[in-house]
Amino acid sequence: MSETKIYLSEKEIPTRWYNIQADMPNLPKPPLNPQTMKPAGPEDLTPIFPMDLILQEMGTERWIEIPEEVRELYKMWRPSPLIRARQLEKALDTPAKIYFKYEGVSPAGSHKLNSAIPQAYYNKKAGIKRLATETGAGQWGSALSIACKFFDLECVVYMVKVSYQQKPYRRSLMNVYGAQVFASPSEQTQAGRKILAENPNNLGSLGIAISEAVEDAVLREDTNYALGSVLNHVALHQTVIGLETKKQFESLGEYPDIVIACCGGGSNFGGLAFPFVHDNLKEGKKTRLIAVEPEACPTLTRGTFAYDFGDVAGMTPLLSMYTLGKDFMPDGIHAGGLRYHGASTLVSQLYKDKLIEARAVGQVGTFEAALLFAQNEAILPAPESSHAIRAAIDEALLCKESGEPKTIVFCLSGHGHFDLTAYENYLSGQLKDHALPEAELKAAINQLPVIPGE
Ligand SMILES: *Cc1c(COP(=O)(O)O)cnc(C)c1O
Repeated sequence: MSETKIYLSEKEIPTRWYNIQADMPNLPKPPLNPQTMKPAGPEDLTPIFPMDLILQEMGTERWIEIPEEVRELYKMWRPSPLIRARQLEKALDTPAKIYFKYEGVSPAGSHKLNSAIPQAYYNKKAGIKRLATETGAGQWGSALSIACKFFDLECVVYMVKVSYQQKPYRRSLMNVYGAQVFASPSEQTQAGRKILAENPNNLGSLGIAISEAVEDAVLREDTNYALGSVLNHVALHQTVIGLETKKQFESLGEYPDIVIACCGGGSNFGGLAFPFVHDNLKEGKKTRLIAVEPEACPTLTRGTFAYDFGDVAGMTPLLSMYTLGKDFMPDGIHAGGLRYHGASTLVSQLYKDKLIEARAVGQVGTFEAALLFAQNEAILPAPESSHAIRAAIDEALLCKESGEPKTIVFCLSGHGHFDLTAYENYLSGQLKDHALPEAELKAAINQLPVIPGE
């Protein structure tokens, strides 16, 4: 009988991260300094990031050594298993093989710890005492709280208010690891106070929380800022996911036809997909790579490819990416980790160059897929990850129509144990689809910054 769970030994944890910037036919345009609108150099980023991470952000070296201290901590849960969803295959009656790479086995419950640990490590090495960050659903905040504890750093988390209210236990979890958590917009920062003065009931967004965390970091010498997605160094750290997955398929003597991950800022998608993009570019493979986003926040599928700020207050460098506009306020869908107006510049450029695909799925169909998955594979998926499940099921159903036995792999980026309010709302019929009206899309895009010479 063939295998269902493919484990690697600790010795097979990758020793190097893969930097796709070495192999992209077109590199993304450089980030711009928000004051001068000129390309940002390393020195523009030193107020909030340590030099090691800045060099990873901008570097084009193909392989980056993973520090021994980081690999040692990765051993707590890595390599993560690749699992064949046999019961789901049966339920769908599909000839396709469906595998998932399960990142929910991390102590933080998601892939986020893969980058939180190296980020805390490099900041500690640079003499930083305190990290400020934002969190949407609470996954990144939990991961960074854990990583800061490991390296004896203080952690301050600005948590999007709607999630702060919907997910009190995520907040408690961060407190357990010693982090300080504020509902954002908060009274702690000028950016937060300004927004509250305009609308005391503002439920927050990732863009607002980022402004608060960046302001906190800029104003304090001992504090840096850490971002859980979007940036190149974050996707770089996440490539352990795809590198392990490739080894696991190798041990099976198989290779996937379709690789799928949900896409918020793009880090778990990039982490799984980039090593396969490498094989497409360099080894003539023809794997389809699909980024899946919510219809309520369709950054890749309906956004504009342009320079935009990463935050609402316009404090971050401008990134060349698909964006819905920094002031875009997505509906309060339950996949909090996917409610971001922008996307990774690397993922954006690959999509622009047609080297990857993207699709948007509705909230109700996503929860249907999550339930079908949970009832067959027993794991409760995070609402974010369920977007990837929806697409994997849809591809498997197409295989059923065509009779093709394709091999599909998706990233199960996290478990949903803190998302039971969302499941309760789905089960009681309260969830709706939130397709974004064209007028709202246009309004947000009209506010894009004007760049001289662009
Ligand atoms: C944060 C998060 C995401 C979205 O972030 P990406 O950077 O796009 O990966 C997806 N799934 C889970 C479980 C998350 O916590």
